[in-house]
Amino acid sequence: MADRILIIEDEAAIADALIYALRTDGFAVHWCALAREGMAWLQTQPVDLVVLDVGLPDESGFELCRRIRTLSQVPVMFLTARKEEVDRIVGLEIGADDYVVKPFSPREISARVRAILRRTRQLPDGALTQPRTTEPAAAFVLDDAAKRISYRGQWLVLTRYEYLILGALLQRPDHVLSRSQLMDAAWEDPAASFDRAVDTHIKGIRAKLKQVDAEADPIRTHRGLGYSLCSAAETSAP
Ligand code: CA
Repeated sequence: MADRILIIEDEAAIADALIYALRTDGFAVHWCALAREGMAWLQTQPVDLVVLDVGLPDESGFELCRRIRTLSQVPVMFLTARKEEVDRIVGLEIGADDYVVKPFSPREISARVRAILRRTRQLPDGALTQPRTTEPAAAFVLDDAAKRISYRGQWLVLTRYEYLILGALLQRPDHVLSRSQLMDAAWEDPAASFDRAVDTHIKGIRAKLKQVDAEADPIRTHRGLGYSLCSAAETSAP
């Protein structure tokens, strides 16, 4: 049976493009233009994933997401128009599973939807309420309270930036994070830094991981895009 996607977005042109892309990829799509319509649909219909616009006329997407979370752990992907909104999605614990900044390609949304559904289904029941940091199972353990990360049972000696960058990758395994997203995760003032700085810190992290396991190289470079942490590599060895 096709996965059921609920789009809550007030701009018809954006919704139309999304509906077309998602239906082409085999999803069953329902569209609501208002927060209250979306909530009513969620209360009565089964939904596998919600694509939620932050700027809705009757209620902010943030508020709606909070209300959705009181009744369901359905994955929520935000559509945002502004950088400040991204900060809120990332910074606040509002339970979003992903976000895409407008303008975006509908094909990209469809690929992300597929990735979220794959990721969330790998988790045991109820695990969606756990912090995302528990996801990249086996090899890595992120101890947020102590600001440290272990790899294959060994605590890594990381600089602050290395910790923040590796932590950001760990929180979204198999997800390509651009250098600017990684800078956002690590720097108070990302504009003052450069892509090169991220590359340097990634190099430092890789060297430290290699000291633990010389064979594995779980951080992948995506040329011109950024970096991702490969979850497949983590399960290949005890
Ligand atoms: Ca809007």
